[in-house]
Amino acid sequence: MKIICIGRNYALHAKEMGSSTTEKPMFFLKPDSAILPKRNPFFIPNFSEEIHHEVELIIKIKKLGKSIDEKFAHSYYDEIGLGIDFTARDLQSKCKKLGHPWEIAKAFDQSAVVSEKFINKKEFSGTNINFRLTKNKEIVQKGNGNDMIFSPAKIISYVSQFMTLKIGDLIFTGTPSGVGKIKINDELEGFIENTSMFKIKIK
Ligand code: MG
Repeated sequence: MKIICIGRNYALHAKEMGSSTTEKPMFFLKPDSAILPKRNPFFIPNFSEEIHHEVELIIKIKKLGKSIDEKFAHSYYDEIGLGIDFTARDLQSKCKKLGHPWEIAKAFDQSAVVSEKFINKKEFSGTNINFRLTKNKEIVQKGNGNDMIFSPAKIISYVSQFMTLKIGDLIFTGTPSGVGKIKINDELEGFIENTSMFKIKIK
């Protein structure tokens, strides 16, 4: 399986990064080796001084598809989860400056937190989904799926022009504003509405 991550999908996050929003979805990949094993703590890697949390809604692809028309895209997923796209912000800034790819900043081991449970999209009205991340019990990021610049249907349609989507592929749909640095002993917890989706200790 592969993990597709959308960048700059919330205007306020693009702004906090000093980036402009894009005309088309911007995406990158994480390998399956990036998934943080369930119930494991996240160990801050020694190659970065600045790991940021980015909480994101995740959609799980349930059907094989290529060049999917936007109007049929809804039939390619049922389940919505929550995750963190951990980012080595210091390395990412260097990559951006040099015009290099982002893999060392985005695709490293443990960089993808994926909730154990997923919720059927029928439980929500469209993308009206509130989610948040707390750090040591304080809210640091909150978002609503309606604020996505590119909807799940647009994302699925766009990405599938370039790469075949397969059953079990995950799409991280972008982070709202409030990203920030983590440190040892922090505890992160993610919620969709009032359901706790994951809890992570930082080591
Ligand atoms: Mg992200």
